[in-house]
Amino acid sequence: MDHFLYRDGELYAEDVRIADIAASVGTPFYLYSTATLTRHFQLFDEALDGMDHMVCYAMKAASNQAILKTLAELGAGMDVVSGGEYARAKAAGVPGDRIVFSGVGKTRAEIRQALDGGIRQFNVESEPEMRVISEIATSVGKTAPITVRVNPDVDAKTHEKIATGKSENKFGIPIAKAREVYAEAAALPGIEVIGIDVHIGSQLTDLTPYELAYQKVAELTEQLRADGHTIKRLDLGGGLGIPYARSNEAPPLPSDYGALIKRTVGHLGCEIEIEPGRLIAGNAGILVSRVIYVKQGEGRQFLILDGAMNDLIRPAMYDAHHDIVPVIEPEPGVEQEPYDIVGPVCESGDTFAKNRMMPPLKDGDLVAFRSAGAYGAVMASEYNTRPLVPEVLARGDQFAVIRQRPDFDEIINRDTIPPWL
Ligand SMILES: *Cc1c(COP(=O)(O)O)cnc(C)c1O
Repeated sequence: MDHFLYRDGELYAEDVRIADIAASVGTPFYLYSTATLTRHFQLFDEALDGMDHMVCYAMKAASNQAILKTLAELGAGMDVVSGGEYARAKAAGVPGDRIVFSGVGKTRAEIRQALDGGIRQFNVESEPEMRVISEIATSVGKTAPITVRVNPDVDAKTHEKIATGKSENKFGIPIAKAREVYAEAAALPGIEVIGIDVHIGSQLTDLTPYELAYQKVAELTEQLRADGHTIKRLDLGGGLGIPYARSNEAPPLPSDYGALIKRTVGHLGCEIEIEPGRLIAGNAGILVSRVIYVKQGEGRQFLILDGAMNDLIRPAMYDAHHDIVPVIEPEPGVEQEPYDIVGPVCESGDTFAKNRMMPPLKDGDLVAFRSAGAYGAVMASEYNTRPLVPEVLARGDQFAVIRQRPDFDEIINRDTIPPWL
């Protein structure tokens, strides 16, 4: 459920007319709903009710300061994957002891940064990384809390670019090798093993892979405890999918996911962490764009928008589907027409949808890409020197620009001409 609904014949974000925002901000822009962000965070928080837990928002999904602050004020922790994200989380007011550091290649500088600023735990992804964390922590007189990310070798049955829990993926250590790695970890002076981490992929639309993975984590917990390790925290990752096509998808609910967690690992008495990103931000954001031209091609018509692949790369990168709806609500029963919906960038990959049935549209009309809140704005670029797409946050009857659209001078002035040129 989200808060982008038609009212009086046009699309609103909560109580704000989207056409008013477009008139004020210009297009294209991302638009988020505070109420949807809040609701999604709370669904996870409630799903783990009765267990000692923390929901650590995977901020790579959407990392604007205003979004982080909205979630942090609800009690969210943050899952970060770079020094930049760590700095963003701190800047939004998240204390170090609510920040989890994930990622397959943390640099020495990033490890030092997190130890200096405080960290809830590092999710370690390899033995060399574990040794480096120990060495750096020792050199600054600290002990770094860690979990080891295990790769449970389950098939998440998702797009190959976002599956992470098969043995051929680069993530984590093979679960079969875990006892050996934990034995080494216990002997390293600068780290303290506190638990186990697992994350099997993104956009999972079936709970079975989670069930298999968490059962393996439960077995491993008992085995490692028998080996003498302290396993008091389980980080169970993120990845729960969202319905991108309203018409035909019904992914699992956070409440079912929570029940699964209780069933598979609840008896272990561990503190539970989860790292949802997409399910919190995905349906809490849309991309609003304007039709520049309707162009008749050979046997097809193109809807040419002012938004492009540099603003929303998911269709080009993951073959992703986004529902695209007109901001003015179509008359009931209006005859739909097929459109190829494209942006102005000089690549054939700059195609959002082919043969998409839409009510008739004309130059100047506004459209909204639904479910664009996660992995949207954060993946935007300035390819073709198209200004980085702005972001807007709605709350009730208010809205605010939370990232400005840069002007051309700002973009050009980031370049420098060498003195010898
Ligand atoms: C990307 C990622 C997540 C979030 O995945 P979603 O599909 O957005 O929920 C969580 N944990 C880790 C380690 C990740 O890399």
